[in-house]
Amino acid sequence: MKHVEEAVAIRDTLLTAFDRASVLPPGPERQRLLTVTFVGGGFSGVEGFGELLSLATSLLRTYPELSPVDLSFHLVEAAGRILPEVTDEPGRWVVRALEERGAHVHLDTQLVSAVGGHVVLSTGQEFDSELIVWAAGNAANPVVAQHTDLPVDDRGFLRVRADLRVGTAQAAVPDAWAAGDDAAVPDLAVGTPGARTAPNAQHAVRQGRHLAANIAAVLRGGTPRDYVHRSLGVVATLGLGQGVFQYRRLVVTGFPAWVMHRGYHMLAVPTWERKIRVLTVWLAAAVFGRESYRSPASSTRGTRSCVAGRRGRRVLPGWVGDHTCARTRRPTMAQSAVRRGRGDPLRGSAHRRARDVAARRRGRDRRPDRAGPRPPRPRPPLPQPRAVRRDRVPLVHRRGA
Ligand SMILES: Cc1cc2nc3c(=O)[nH]c(=O)nc-3n(C[C@H](O)[C@H](O)[C@H](O)COP(=O)(O)OP(=O)(O)OC[C@H]3O[C@@H](n4cnc5c(N)ncnc54)[C@H](O)[C@@H]3O)c2cc1C
Repeated sequence: MKHVEEAVAIRDTLLTAFDRASVLPPGPERQRLLTVTFVGGGFSGVEGFGELLSLATSLLRTYPELSPVDLSFHLVEAAGRILPEVTDEPGRWVVRALEERGAHVHLDTQLVSAVGGHVVLSTGQEFDSELIVWAAGNAANPVVAQHTDLPVDDRGFLRVRADLRVGTAQAAVPDAWAAGDDAAVPDLAVGTPGARTAPNAQHAVRQGRHLAANIAAVLRGGTPRDYVHRSLGVVATLGLGQGVFQYRRLVVTGFPAWVMHRGYHMLAVPTWERKIRVLTVWLAAAVFGRESYRSPASSTRGTRSCVAGRRGRRVLPGWVGDHTCARTRRPTMAQSAVRRGRGDPLRGSAHRRARDVAARRRGRDRRPDRAGPRPPRPRPPLPQPRAVRRDRVPLVHRRGA
């Protein structure tokens, strides 16, 4: 998990799974749809896991067919603890907090296989999971790791000096500079030989500014300065209203940590215009609750299910549903089209499902094709070619003859 698009796809997959599970009776298929697996207990994995669990729990309010026991959220971590950036006690608190919310945290466990969505763990446990998220460490960008003649370390990150020039302490590559996640920048603040700065925004943003100042200094004939930054602490959210913060020995957990997380990120958002935009979205969520509609840009399947706001009053135009919206209790566009007798807007299984659900609601099963394959539709007769009479040859032909 790295990009916003991936986060959107994960969210959409969960929303689609809820839509599909809500029309199924309890059983293995419904259980599979509501099972989520995150692999990797670092910051990305734990934050993503906590947020998705929070979203799923809040969605239950709008899906009366589903209950908390139907949810099955698994976090798999190979090490004996999660969040390596925090010390043991806050790490244990995070595990307890997630388990109290119904999550299964598998420590000292590795993912052995996930073929076809069937998860096999090194402990021997097996289960089917609709959504599997790999968050076990970021690799170096392949362009940097494999397609450059600049020096890279054994993990594919650019070798960088403390002044952010690419190269070794002995020799810098002329006019080559690097900063951020793909640069192995020496961490002079830690004081341990060989230590590298952590791949986070706290360093990336400061390294970017420092790099620009160093380039300007060199262009003006000055000397570049070494990059030194003491960590301001680490903070993570575990879903709406829950978080953990640590600065040296100071540990804050729960709601205050979540507020600190939001506050810090608000400060980090560039420009006042963007700050206000982001804050408006957050405040709207605080008043009206989480948004639960899908992004039009992403689709996990060819068809999408009903998409509605939290209050369940609208179905977004241009979207098609594969069953009655569990939240609005109103027919989706596909069903409306069927009821109005307007043909077949989806031309596929989603349309048939929509039609079946509508029929079941009216108390009769209109799916004759369930018993076997659908008989071929009679084709309209092909138009016959008109006979051309020799005495009515067009004028132009006669002229050319
Ligand atoms: C899920 C997640 C949550 C995180 N949460 C936090 C957090 O709470 N706090 C924190 O401090 N850090 C966090 N991080 C880490 C933080 O996002 C990164 O450390 C930071 O973004 C690194 O900045 P960067 O500029 O080096 O790389 P990026 O932000 O990844 O920017 C690299 C850019 O280069 C572009 N690019 C890639 N290849 C090419 C190419 N060939 N040509 C042109 N452009 C290219 C990419 O599209 C991208 O826009 C998180 C990371 C993830 C994945």
